[in-house]
Amino acid sequence: MVSCSPRRRNRVMTSLRSIPSIDTLLGRPALARAIATHGHESVTGAARQAADALRDEIRQLGGHGPGSDEEAAAWLERRALDILRARVAPSLRRVINATGVIIHTNLGRAPLAAEAIERAGRIAGGYSNLEYDLEAGDRGHRHVHAERLLRELTGAEAALVVNNNAAATLVVLAALADGREVIVSRGELVEIGGGFRIPEVLAESGAVMREVGTTNRTRVTDYAAAIGERTALLLRVHPSNFRIEGFTERPGLAELTALAHRFKLPVFEDLGSGWLGAEDPDGSLRDEPSVTSSLRAGADLVAFSGDKLLGGPQAGIVTGRRDLIDQVRRHPLMRAVRADKLTYAAVESTLGLWADAPSRLRIPVVRMLTMSVSEIETRAKRLIEQLNDIRSLTAEVVDGASTTGGGSAPGSALPTKLVALAVEGVSAASLEARLRAGDPPVIARIRDGRVVLDLRTVADGDGPELATSVRRAAQS
Ligand SMILES: *Cc1c(COP(=O)(O)O)cnc(C)c1O
Repeated sequence: MVSCSPRRRNRVMTSLRSIPSIDTLLGRPALARAIATHGHESVTGAARQAADALRDEIRQLGGHGPGSDEEAAAWLERRALDILRARVAPSLRRVINATGVIIHTNLGRAPLAAEAIERAGRIAGGYSNLEYDLEAGDRGHRHVHAERLLRELTGAEAALVVNNNAAATLVVLAALADGREVIVSRGELVEIGGGFRIPEVLAESGAVMREVGTTNRTRVTDYAAAIGERTALLLRVHPSNFRIEGFTERPGLAELTALAHRFKLPVFEDLGSGWLGAEDPDGSLRDEPSVTSSLRAGADLVAFSGDKLLGGPQAGIVTGRRDLIDQVRRHPLMRAVRADKLTYAAVESTLGLWADAPSRLRIPVVRMLTMSVSEIETRAKRLIEQLNDIRSLTAEVVDGASTTGGGSAPGSALPTKLVALAVEGVSAASLEARLRAGDPPVIARIRDGRVVLDLRTVADGDGPELATSVRRAAQS
């Protein structure tokens, strides 16, 4: 609610008549200055909107509001400036992710490494050789960027970067299978979320889907029986966000590629996450396959996201056979799904960090995945110490589980330590909402009737801000 004056002892009352004319308002110094930056029309509009708000307020108070005429005018001035500021304020904001979900799909997935931010910033702020061959002094191709690093890291012959993995899958299928059959297991006809459904992507690409096997069991002989004249390729999809357990079977990738290659057909694997490290470093990834192991098993093309386990920007990356990558590059859809210079800059920088084990830890996703429980506990205790003067607040460290998220390593649970919060007389739901309404907003979870914060996903530098936000939420 608006309040015209905190000084209720002031006997002068605001009435509808004390609302100054718009012209008078525009003559006030701050608004006159605002006209220079925002233009006359914008400022007039904001002043009108402020005056309307005050009019409504006074009417609600029965025709008179507290405060003098001068106070009403000053309030209108401030309000109009707020309206102008809000109009140009971005809606995309930074938040603190205290959910413990590392690749949080709703919170922008992977945070970038400092190196990648710096690199993208430098490339963004100037000109670059995006499509310029510096040796020849002539037109070049954007697709040369990131390719050398990708070949180095995965052992693939060639690589390609597009806007995201959905685009990668679409353009590969369109380029290699338009009008022909793609053989895929019924157990892999998955929906990733956000409208990405394998059968629909296949249909959009112009390929004809040839389903084999059953939801829970598909054998290599099922694929073999479906191969025919019209077969373009065999598709393998990583079931990103669920696991089928129990009576299940699916052929190993090597078995599948051996079959396909006997018929001179390629295997295209939509891997989803794109882990570039060794296979499942400590079991925490629950057998999430690595890009290299898929290529080694004979997959001809492997597609994955840039902003899942790779820890880079939104992008789709395809690695594999040179002739197939070239065929994909020539497809007209490539122009529609190509990556921009900021993406190339951040992808190259992130890949550079993957090159050796110590620098890999500078990638936030990798660091969060490998963070020890004792380090998280130390962070949790540090937060609690910063809050222990708040009388109404109880905070304690409890056991919990973080998750990989982003459709990576489904079912994975990384042991963690949580900070459980309770504020006297405030429900968990409203504490959670207050944290979310903060600046920056803090996104927390509720577990067993208490708000819990998982510091695995809170960047080191965000600790003090988090403490301030919790303090405000507890005391407001
Ligand atoms: C996440 C995912 C996609 C979609 O990737 P985007 O980069 O979000 O477009 C496609 N396939 C699989 C298997 C995935 O896990």
